[in-house]
Amino acid sequence: MENTLKTSEKIGLLNGVGSAREALLERLSIRTVGDMLMHVPARFLDRRTIIPIAELRLGTDAVVSGRITGLSRRPRGRGPSFSAVLSDHSGSITLTFFRPGFPGSKLQQGMDVIACGRIDSYKGYTIVHPELYFNEEAAGAVKAPGMLPVYRLTAGLTQGVMRKLAASALDAVKNSMADILPDELIISGGFKCRWDVFNAAHRPDSPEESKLARDLLALEELYLYRSVLAAIRMKGSQHPGITLSSFSLSEFQASLLWPLTAAQKRVCLEISADMAGGVPMRRLVQGDVGSGKTVVAAFACITSALNGKTAAVLAPTEVLATQHFRSMGEFCSRFGIKVHLLTGGTPGTERKKIAERLTENTGCVLVGTHAILEDWIPLNSVALVVIDEQHRFGVAQREKLLASRNPRPHALVMSATPIPRTLAMTFYGDLELSVIDSMPPGRGITETRIVDHSEKPTVFKFMLERLEAGERIFLVYPLKEASEKSDLRDAATAFETVKSGPMAKFGTALLHGSMSPAEKVAVTEQFSSGQISVLVSTTVIEVGIDVPEATVMVISNAERFGLSQLHQLRGRVGRGGKNSWCFLVPEDGASRESFHRLELLVSTSNGFIIAEKDLAIRGPGQVLGTAQHGIPCFKVANLSIDAHLVRAVSEMQPMTIQVVHGLLKSQLWRYNEMKLPSV
Ligand code: ADP
Ligand code: MG
Repeated sequence: MENTLKTSEKIGLLNGVGSAREALLERLSIRTVGDMLMHVPARFLDRRTIIPIAELRLGTDAVVSGRITGLSRRPRGRGPSFSAVLSDHSGSITLTFFRPGFPGSKLQQGMDVIACGRIDSYKGYTIVHPELYFNEEAAGAVKAPGMLPVYRLTAGLTQGVMRKLAASALDAVKNSMADILPDELIISGGFKCRWDVFNAAHRPDSPEESKLARDLLALEELYLYRSVLAAIRMKGSQHPGITLSSFSLSEFQASLLWPLTAAQKRVCLEISADMAGGVPMRRLVQGDVGSGKTVVAAFACITSALNGKTAAVLAPTEVLATQHFRSMGEFCSRFGIKVHLLTGGTPGTERKKIAERLTENTGCVLVGTHAILEDWIPLNSVALVVIDEQHRFGVAQREKLLASRNPRPHALVMSATPIPRTLAMTFYGDLELSVIDSMPPGRGITETRIVDHSEKPTVFKFMLERLEAGERIFLVYPLKEASEKSDLRDAATAFETVKSGPMAKFGTALLHGSMSPAEKVAVTEQFSSGQISVLVSTTVIEVGIDVPEATVMVISNAERFGLSQLHQLRGRVGRGGKNSWCFLVPEDGASRESFHRLELLVSTSNGFIIAEKDLAIRGPGQVLGTAQHGIPCFKVANLSIDAHLVRAVSEMQPMTIQVVHGLLKSQLWRYNEMKLPSV
């Protein structure tokens, strides 16, 4: 009889888990009983139907039953060490064993067995390392119809062990499970209680039941996450804030060369009210590329500086930090406010100087990369932290940055990735949402065209014309694999061609991800100053580069990019009021469907519409960016397929802070990897 355990208790307390096994489980991130429960099977073998051998199909999971009619052992040499022939009334199939020993060694001529596994092809159909049930046991396996779970494993653990552990974890928590999801949801899925759901996820009666259970667990995981973020937001608002008296919007307007858009004004006023309200601001400003977020950030920084407090602007890269430094300087200098730049590349002596200045005059703006967060920077009087392009910066990092300071600074997060509302509610729920939903007037039009093979010479001629007219061009190549080396290959080849072709005389350079930050800054500067006019690049230009003279972008193998990403990229041209062009060049032989998909970009320039479509096609994971951008690694939920669950969660009322707090104590196992801050 198993002891009663809580989900948060160490996996070592479970029967059958000694220190060796504990170490193996650790490799699967299973540290607690709850982790074991959340380690749901990757798939199931449907044992309810034994398939006649003649009807097996390649690549499917199958259960076959028959008699061993042939055996061949090969003691040494390459290839399988052992194989057996299993026959039923309809035909026969081989069972292949690359490893000697059990269970293959137990097979004998004439034995009745049941074999389960994926149908593979190796000199005819075969099952490699099948799960075997022998004689009487085989009879039992058939008699107990059901679904056989198949778990993700690590070397040293077997399916059998995992099944036993899952079963004993289920038994151990049976009487100690707290509910998370509202009852109606559990019941509408056909379950009596939460334990039932876990049970069905591991030991379902049918594929339908396992899917329902798995979806509920994924939903629960997303719901808990959403509730935690909502609690963080609530809790944040209980801290005293730094009250900043408002800076007059009309005075700010008077210092600008153009009128603020209605959307910019609205967001400035929201920010102003937040910062004057006595509660630390936590606001996400979303706006399409070019919608004019910088000026809004400047307004917030000026407000802080005029109150004698420092504003820190945090950019993800050195290139962006440098650019912000420049534009902030322009906006701030009119009010006599000093702006400092500090990045990883800033020399020590310069850093010291900046530190001194920050102490002497706290009413200033400090722009930089993560370097500005180092301890020695005198940021005691920071009243505002602006985080640019937050999707590179997770909740936990954000929270650490803010909560470690007393009083808590105001936080303004800027994102150029339009995120559909349903996603924002779930994944940025710790922030209030502001949207800059219109573009400054008088901007040129960016025409987007899909270019097929035959039109390439025309595009090339057109590019030369634009260059002759003094304009600049981006040539973009996709990331082939998630590796900088291969990512470089296409761009580098193209660069060689450009360098020796008719565009060479306009000056050209290559920009890619494995360059040092200093090199990237240097190349970007050459392009923005006009020293070079053709920038051949991988996707590193995606965020933030602002070069008004750039009017043409050609994106090769466009079908490999997500729609949102393409939209982001094309936002880099047409920033100077001139008309501009974005040419999407799919690979020869790209599917008709991918052409079709690209047409959305031709028909709209609204980032939110594009993001919605991307969400529908590629799922939330792609729209949000990956785990490195701060979205946690969920154990059950899968952001590339669970869009409907994310939508469902956004419509649910988050749990109250008290409930979340109580749950987190016992449920922290959910967030082992992301170390969510205590609420
Ligand atoms: P993003 O939202 O992509 O950060 P920026 O803040 O860089 O956009 O603004 C894009 C360009 O538009 C900049 O050159 C900026 O000076 C200009 N801009 C911003 N707001 C306005 C406005 N209200 N009227 C005219 N131009 C504007
Ligand atoms: Mg920007």
